[in-house]
Parts: sequence; C-alpha cells; structure tokens
Amino acid sequence: MDLLKEKIKKDGTVLPGNVLKVDNFLNHQVDAKLMDQIGEEFARLFKDEKITKVVTVESSGIAPALTTAIHLGVPLIFARKHKSVTLTDDLYTAKVYSYTKKVSNNISIDKRFLNADDHILIIDDFLANGQAVQGLLEIAKLADVSVSGIGIVIEKSFQKGHAMIEKTGIRLESLARIASLKDQSVTFVE
Ligand code: 5GP
Repeated sequence: MDLLKEKIKKDGTVLPGNVLKVDNFLNHQVDAKLMDQIGEEFARLFKDEKITKVVTVESSGIAPALTTAIHLGVPLIFARKHKSVTLTDDLYTAKVYSYTKKVSNNISIDKRFLNADDHILIIDDFLANGQAVQGLLEIAKLADVSVSGIGIVIEKSFQKGHAMIEKTGIRLESLARIASLKDQSVTFVE
C-alpha cells in the first residue's frame, strides 16, 4: 500500500532493537483517514472469505481492526491483556510475550464472543516474531473457530513471524513489508 509506505518513510523513526516507531500515525496519535483507508484495503483483500468477526489484541491493533470491521460489516473483538494468571472458566486465554515491552501477558477473549461457526480475520499493527498472532491462533483453536486470514499493517519480514504464519498455511496479507531497518533506514521488500 503505497500511501502507507510513504507515511512510514516520512514519519517513522528507527529505534534500537529493530523497532520502528510510528506513534504519530498508528501507535499513539492515530491518522484516522489513513486508518480508514487501511480498513478499506483489508476489506477488499478479504471480501470473498465470508469473515464473520475481526479479531485483534488491545491496544494498538484496535484502530486498524475497527476500520476493517466497519468496511466488512462485522463485529470487532479485541483480546484483553492482563498480567495476572487468574483464569476464569469463561475465558479463552493464551500467553503472549511482548516484543516491545519485553514482558509476558495473558490475552483473553470471553467465550460468549466466539462460536464454532465463526470465520475470523486476525488484524494487528505489527508482525515481528509472531507471538501476538500465535496467541490469537491458540485462542481460535480453543474456541474451535476457523481462521480465514491474517492482515498486518506493518510486517518486519526479516523477523520470524512471516515464516511462522507461512507454515500454518493461513492466508497472510501485509500492507507494508520491511526488509531491513539497518543504519536507521527503512528498506521495503521489493
Ligand atoms: P510479535 O508478537 O509479532 O513479535 O510482535 C508484534 C507486536 O509487537 C505488535 O502487536 C506490536 O504491538 C509490537 N511490535 C513489534 N515490533 C514493533 C515495532 O517495530 N514497532 C512497534 N511500534 N511495535 C512493534
């Protein structure tokens, strides 16, 4: 998605540890118009997949997941994070290690919101090592729902997540694919 790549080039900054900071349009201040265009693009890409729900993890996945859900005309569910290990019988829960915060969180979704006949689309802001997506896939398995696709706003293709998803055979669509963040400069996959 050219518009997104231009925005990353213009406003993104590279931090140590292969982290791309995009907090002026995606992770803190949100460019609402761009988010709408991102949602429109995901909806176009997955329009034939009979998606019944869009699923993400709070908090940075919510903006692109919401606009995608609006364009597909389906509900959005965001998995909630909590540090405590208190489990309740009403939740599907998975453990996720956060790439940027370097802590493990449990993420969970209330059992009432996922049904065996659902076809979900997973949306997230970034794909790095694939931990967040892996956690959502675990929850999908527990809930016995089928995963019709995964949509990522910014994929760091040089990290492990892409290969991990490829192995599952699930359709992956990333709107911007980064080949390298070396020397504080963003290089996209051709
Ligand atoms: P993963 O679980 O794939 O290792 O990492 C994905 C999650 O970590 C995303 O949901 C995002 O919140 C965060 N993340 C990973 N890499 C980056 C990055 O380079 N920049 C930002 N802003 N967030 C990242």
